[in-house]
Amino acid sequence: MASQPAGAASPLCQFGHRQSPVDIVAPVRLKLAPLDFRYRAAPLKIVNDGHTARVRFGKDSTLVIGNETYTLQQFHFHTPGGDRIGGEEFAMAAHLLHRGKSGRLLALAVLFRQGAENPALAALWPRIPLRADGDHAVFEATVDATELLPANRAYYRYEGSLTAAPCSEGVSWIVMKQPLTLSSEQLTQWKTRFTDNIRTPQSLHGRIVQESL
Ligand SMILES: [Zn+2]
Repeated sequence: MASQPAGAASPLCQFGHRQSPVDIVAPVRLKLAPLDFRYRAAPLKIVNDGHTARVRFGKDSTLVIGNETYTLQQFHFHTPGGDRIGGEEFAMAAHLLHRGKSGRLLALAVLFRQGAENPALAALWPRIPLRADGDHAVFEATVDATELLPANRAYYRYEGSLTAAPCSEGVSWIVMKQPLTLSSEQLTQWKTRFTDNIRTPQSLHGRIVQESL
């Protein structure tokens, strides 16, 4: 979910036992707290850092899970999707990165299959800065991360890591069960700008993946 190239030198990247992404197989079905999204429209601030396009948020968009409130900080994109479900690799993922009050990171992955055009991506793609200089382009237009969420709010949850160096663990991952779609044209538009930017699934090493009922 960070945007550095995968594989940079860091012991955790090579030897960690709670790494992301993963292939979600044999999840355990449980009654999990619902995801209470309280995202708000915000002025669009988007940056091209050479590895991905990242949209930054202020403090207004939050996700409440049980007693915990997480503030949305940014979202960005990967090809391919990183996390797999039952072996299926997805064309793309959006990672919505949140931080809890205690500083704990929570990453939420939305997966995309090829199919119908995605309206949220259609609004974003033309606004990605051409120059990969790390400068944020700020627009009058607003962005609401709710538009990147599937209608079905069922999810998987597991304990993982940053997906690039330093591969820090202690990151709580939520993977939305229902994938969205993007058109082949949208995928091609992205791939003409960015190379594949996520590592392959990592071993679960005995971790349990929870699945909401
Ligand atoms: Zn990511």
